[in-house]
Amino acid sequence: MMTETHRGAAIAISQTSKRYADFVALDAIDLDIKAGEFMTLLGPSGSGKTTTLNLIAGFTEPDGGRLTIGGQNVLGLPAHKRGIGVVFQHYALFPHMTVARNVAYPLKLRSMRKSERESRVARALAMVKMTDFAHRYPSELSGGQQQRVALARALVFDPPLLLMDEPLGALDKKLREWLQLEIKRIHRELGTTFVYVTHDQEEALVLSDRIAVFNQGRIEQIGTGRELYETPKTLFVGRFMGESSVLRGAFSVANGKTTLSIGEQQVTVPGVLAGKQKPVLLLRPEKLRLLHRHETAPANCNVLDGQIVECIYLGSGAKYEVRLKDDSIAIVRSSEEGDFARGDKVQIAFAAEDARLLADDERAEMTLT
Ligand code: ADP
Ligand code: MG
Repeated sequence: MMTETHRGAAIAISQTSKRYADFVALDAIDLDIKAGEFMTLLGPSGSGKTTTLNLIAGFTEPDGGRLTIGGQNVLGLPAHKRGIGVVFQHYALFPHMTVARNVAYPLKLRSMRKSERESRVARALAMVKMTDFAHRYPSELSGGQQQRVALARALVFDPPLLLMDEPLGALDKKLREWLQLEIKRIHRELGTTFVYVTHDQEEALVLSDRIAVFNQGRIEQIGTGRELYETPKTLFVGRFMGESSVLRGAFSVANGKTTLSIGEQQVTVPGVLAGKQKPVLLLRPEKLRLLHRHETAPANCNVLDGQIVECIYLGSGAKYEVRLKDDSIAIVRSSEEGDFARGDKVQIAFAAEDARLLADDERAEMTLT
């Protein structure tokens, strides 16, 4: 374990844009990252995550805006003078150097004494549990081991900030899940600021203090995983974070409530959207109850008729796809396996406060398919 416990550097990005010819890769983003925070940049491919990381690292310069690291303006400062650790998916190790020499490299660049270098390399390798591999060459390591060495190399000089771009992207699921926990532990031990890029929302939930959700060069929302899942501000964020169903239909508004018609039935929720926005309801699968048609729904619930088109056994419970009267599909998740089968005529029931009222947005669906 590293003995110096220092706090990481805060980052402030404001009104920062990046264009490639007439293509806007980043559109005036604002992002404040606290000292020592684990911030994840999450979004689909092409949404601007890597561009943002490259700007922080100094690999590219923005077309406008402000960027400070630890309170210092770093625009114009070359990457090697920013003192940042970097791990990329394909940021390869030097193939002709052993693990120990790879990890020592940033210290050599900084002209550190040999004895100091050796103790730091030993500490960094211990931190990523690669001590026994110090004399191997990268070609003698698995993908996961190589990324652990890359992590040790990025942290060996005690940077106040570590940037990681999909570092686990090339690894299989079990290994990825184990390394996620290792990265989380290392972050906790060091107190360094981590900025992590992924397109995998489950990975973001496991790792992050907060998550910034990117879509088409903009940040749609910044918050904890819980905030993004439970109170998304946009349909895109709601759809991107976890599973959901969306109800659309003719709507009316009265007494501060919105009513949607699905087939012959109506559902009503509290709240009204501002302006002329078309409302939709976002429903989480675990907030929906599945009932047989003859069952009476719990009081104060919205109820919609449907038919089960798919039953999926998940080990821990089951997932059902229910076709509603307007042909849309609702996804229901249940921890106990009820006596439901494909083809059953059913009802779904949900409490009004469990539905999120959001503005419809075609882009939300387009970007996801
Ligand atoms: P992400 O990491 O979220 O997948 P990027 O930040 O790499 O996305 O890219 C954002 C957008 O900018 C993409 O549409 C990409 O094609 C474009 N882009 C990135 N780098 C360049 C470049 N050097 N030249 C032209 N377009 C680029
Ligand atoms: Mg990328």
